[in-house]
Amino acid sequence: MSKETLVIIGSGPAGWTAAVYAARAELRPLVIEGSFHRTMIPGGQLMFTTEVENYPGFKEGVDGQTLMLDMKAQALRFGTRVLTEDVVELDAKSRPFRLVTTSGAEVLAEAVIVATGANAKWIGLPNEQRLAQAGGGVSACAVCDGALPHFRGKTLAVVGGGDTAMEDALYLTKFAKEVVIVHRRDELRASKVMAERAQTHEKIRFAWNKVVTDVYGDDVITGIRLKDTVTGEESDLEVGGLFVAIGHEPNTGFLKGVVELKRNGYIRTPIPWRTQTSVPGIFAAGDVMDDYYRQAVTAAGTGCMAALEAERWLAHGGAESEHEPAAMAGGSAQG
Ligand code: NAP
Repeated sequence: MSKETLVIIGSGPAGWTAAVYAARAELRPLVIEGSFHRTMIPGGQLMFTTEVENYPGFKEGVDGQTLMLDMKAQALRFGTRVLTEDVVELDAKSRPFRLVTTSGAEVLAEAVIVATGANAKWIGLPNEQRLAQAGGGVSACAVCDGALPHFRGKTLAVVGGGDTAMEDALYLTKFAKEVVIVHRRDELRASKVMAERAQTHEKIRFAWNKVVTDVYGDDVITGIRLKDTVTGEESDLEVGGLFVAIGHEPNTGFLKGVVELKRNGYIRTPIPWRTQTSVPGIFAAGDVMDDYYRQAVTAAGTGCMAALEAERWLAHGGAESEHEPAAMAGGSAQG
């Protein structure tokens, strides 16, 4: 059983940024980076993104994998240690906290940062997954991928009837010839204002009562198969891109009954602009606590915040502080 000062669970931009800050503050953090699954691997969602054009500092854009591996290398450089396993249990009642990993190993930690991210929900079609992973015009993030040259001047499909689908469709009108919103009902879940904006946009049309049953294309998407949910009738739609916007699922399965979660399953951080959870000493960063922005750069930002808060909390011997954070060792040199 190892005894750690700070354990960071998760290895996306939030986890690695927290590790960089914590390691520079000489906390020797242990990152439990997750293991390899069919739909998720260490490094998180960005490991499946071919090109990231909106992460500051990369004027020509950066490959998602490169960005994550460089963040990891940066964290390792300052003494971060890594365990390639999943956490299956976090006992928040014991002090120090007790974590159990997939192999059954136990790790004790004085403070914990949870940065396990969220997974975009997919329709679940084999061709959808194949083309999404190959950068073949299927994506679950319009803001990340929509501006890529591939999508310009094409008919693009967006699946979903919530605010994300409306927002994605409106965003994509900047580049697309036309955007078709495919929704499984004839009524939108989206807020009235967003729905109205989409419904009155000249480049957006709706395919009501439709689900996608197949995705066509060898290397790049060429079309989708639709099925009417009322009549059962099938039809094809030629598209140059498919954006799946049917919601996200935070990776909080092991946290139920441990820290307070919001109704939608995301971790609640009760104090505005803080990352502390309902349990002092457990902090949350990135998409696992952010159901609103969900960007790599905001995840990195909250990762930094969590590390600074954890450091301060540890320095005070685990005492809570409501005061503004003072200058800290890890964050003092280069902001
Ligand atoms: P959401 O509100 O849960 O909507 C998901 C949509 O996807 C629903 O229309 C749902 O259909 C559909 N869907 C779910 N599973 C599906 C499947 N397997 N096949 C086909 N369709 C499926 O998720 P969201 O749009 O990502 O929004 C999440 C939260 O963030 C919401 O609270 C939202 O208001 C908020 N948000 C706000 C803004 C904004 O204010 N600007 C922007 C984005 C998100 P049904 O309707 O039939 O269930």
